[in-house]
Amino acid sequence: MEKDILEVLLTEQQIQHRVRELGEILSAEYAGKDPVIVGVLKGVVVFYADMIRQIHVPCQMDFMWLSSYSGTNTTGQMQVKRDVSADIEGRHVLILEDIYDTGTSLDFTYKHLLAKKPASLKICTLLDKPERRKPGITLQPDYVGFTIPNAFVVGYGLDFNEHYRNLPYVGILKPEAYNG
Ligand code: 5GP
Ligand code: MG
Repeated sequence: MEKDILEVLLTEQQIQHRVRELGEILSAEYAGKDPVIVGVLKGVVVFYADMIRQIHVPCQMDFMWLSSYSGTNTTGQMQVKRDVSADIEGRHVLILEDIYDTGTSLDFTYKHLLAKKPASLKICTLLDKPERRKPGITLQPDYVGFTIPNAFVVGYGLDFNEHYRNLPYVGILKPEAYNG
């Protein structure tokens, strides 16, 4: 696995440090609000598990699973494959995401959850790639772990063809790895 990584962009230590910082901010923000923390599967799983343990206030866990109608991310037609199980009307909702790239999936998720009339709806993404944002997407994440350059990254939950999710760091994949 490691041999396919061109460069480690964020080390395990850097990520854990930032997750603790975000945890302090989110603990203060959600004190007394019993938020529903919605993770967007599957890429968020590793970040979610670390993040939730740094939020030191009562909260509820929930998950959504999206799929696109066609095979690629770029066509952007999204569908809910698995919806949240909680009734979030009147609740404080925090979306956790792995990466904000073109913005298509988070924009879709945000609108989908907003329609359920939560008391508040905020977004925390581990990674943000602002250079990739699709024109017309104006949604800004409320909390960002790291802003990264326009490169395809894997690890810490992020995959290429379902592999590399279990790397404890975020790295840039070697171009050779795309071609097998
Ligand atoms: P969007 O383009 O809608 O913002 O992001 C859609 C999805 O594409 C993300 O949730 C993530 O699964 C995937 N994605 C975007 N950029 C990257 C990347 O650099 N690496 C990996 N592994 N997945 C990415
Ligand atoms: Mg993905």
